[in-house]
Amino acid sequence: MALSRRKLLLAGAGMAAIGGTGAHWWYGAPSLVEGDSAARDKAALFDRGLVPVELSGWTMPEGIKPPYPALAADITADVLVVGAGLAGSSLALHLAEAGVSVAVIEARQPGWGASGRNAGHVLPTLRDPSVFDGFPDRGRRFLDAFAEHHTLPFDLQAKHGFAADAVRSGYINAGTSAEDIASFRAQTAWMEERGMLRVAEIGGDALRQATGSAHWSHALVYLDGGRVNPYRMTNGIAAAAANAGARIFGQSPAIDIDGAGGRWRVRTATSSVTASKVVFCTNAYATAVVPAFTKGFYPLTAYALTTKPLPAEARRAIMPGGQTLAQVPIDLNPLVIDEHGRMVLSSIPKIYGAEDAQWHFENQMAWVHDIWPETRGMPIELETYWTGRVALRDREFPGVFEVQPGLYGLMYFNAWGNVMAPLMGKLFAEGLAGGDLAALPFPLEKPAAVSNIGKQDRIIRHVMIPAARQAQRWGTI
Ligand SMILES: Cc1cc2nc3c(=O)[nH]c(=O)nc-3n(C[C@H](O)[C@H](O)[C@H](O)COP(=O)(O)OP(=O)(O)OC[C@H]3O[C@@H](n4cnc5c(N)ncnc54)[C@H](O)[C@@H]3O)c2cc1C
Repeated sequence: MALSRRKLLLAGAGMAAIGGTGAHWWYGAPSLVEGDSAARDKAALFDRGLVPVELSGWTMPEGIKPPYPALAADITADVLVVGAGLAGSSLALHLAEAGVSVAVIEARQPGWGASGRNAGHVLPTLRDPSVFDGFPDRGRRFLDAFAEHHTLPFDLQAKHGFAADAVRSGYINAGTSAEDIASFRAQTAWMEERGMLRVAEIGGDALRQATGSAHWSHALVYLDGGRVNPYRMTNGIAAAAANAGARIFGQSPAIDIDGAGGRWRVRTATSSVTASKVVFCTNAYATAVVPAFTKGFYPLTAYALTTKPLPAEARRAIMPGGQTLAQVPIDLNPLVIDEHGRMVLSSIPKIYGAEDAQWHFENQMAWVHDIWPETRGMPIELETYWTGRVALRDREFPGVFEVQPGLYGLMYFNAWGNVMAPLMGKLFAEGLAGGDLAALPFPLEKPAAVSNIGKQDRIIRHVMIPAARQAQRWGTI
């Protein structure tokens, strides 16, 4: 069975001394032993992608952003956005820029969810052109919008002047055979034909110079791809939304919704927001406020880790060209080197022991040493390890749902939200602000439960990833 990059990275997605000097406070918790409920709780939080966002390397070393206040009065707005990840923040920004009165309530703080804990890859591609067959115009307007805005993370940073380490560094898809790269390129040939994707093929010396390794022979480079610090991107967008007039509230989970006469009232523990339109942007962290949103996706836990800033000799050895790296056809080690010279590596955690930072770090480092043998013995240390939740769908396009008139959902970004979540937020804002949802460049769906919610976790985390890891250990991939 071919293990595709989608299924494996889906996932995206060091410090040898866990619990020792310099370890993050979280690792100070006791190890997992029978009867130790604190450790069991900790393991469950890692297993479900619910660890504190303070563990995410993207919050380091700068720290957590100042909190937004909790909602403390009953207010009204034209549009209420529930959830401030990349999707909700972008929706709020573009609504506010269009002059719409918008409020945002976030259960924790902006960037707490997948948007503050992902792998940092900016991928300027779409996966499956067949999804557009079901669009009213066969996707023409959406594809035009994607062609114009697939660099949105870089563009938003430039326009609003925040610092999210969003760099159009190029995105290398490296393989060990010409055939692998040719069949990989064929998957997005339709985008190239439409002029939507700028690519270059490199090999030989050019590839060695970019990666610092002789491991791969061929690569396809997405020239408009790159990297981002998604926590700072989310917060940069949220701050821009606030500057444009959006009212943003943190520590304000929506707990209840009711509607009458075209007005919706969403309650938090202490207050409420009344709005003519409510958009849930809760992705894989949906709660039962709208029960349908908890059932329409396949949850999958993914992890990421950062090393401490690499020593100079390792920095010179590993990806000296500074591009983001993925491997073709199978990728267990998606890699970014960020502005601090840290490696960011990600994948799917093991079935038992998702909390085991050391195991996942050593697993990644075995690969690093294989690819860049000169790094063996260099002092490369784990900084932090964390997990998060991905919302997978049966189709390679996020869901935009109309539950009832005025009650919407924008969610389920599969494993790739750094471009799509802000872009879909922007496009949905344009539709809401224009008052004509029929003009949206994508169809509105009715939410529907998936038939077997644990399916992808079992297939990917329980079967495919362990098999691929074993194959990597044997040197067969
Ligand atoms: C480990 C990992 C690696 C990934 N790697 C990549 C990558 O490299 N590149 C890429 O493009 N994508 C990647 N992704 C996917 C990407 O992160 C997501 O698709 C994207 O962040 C989804 O954004 P969002 O705004 O829809 O959801 P989220 O960022 O998850 O935001 C949802 C928010 O809703 C809030 N919320 C939930 N319920 C309520 C409620 N009742 N009231 C108020 N607020 C509520 C939550 O607190 C949360 O902040 C990765 C994901 C993970 C987990």
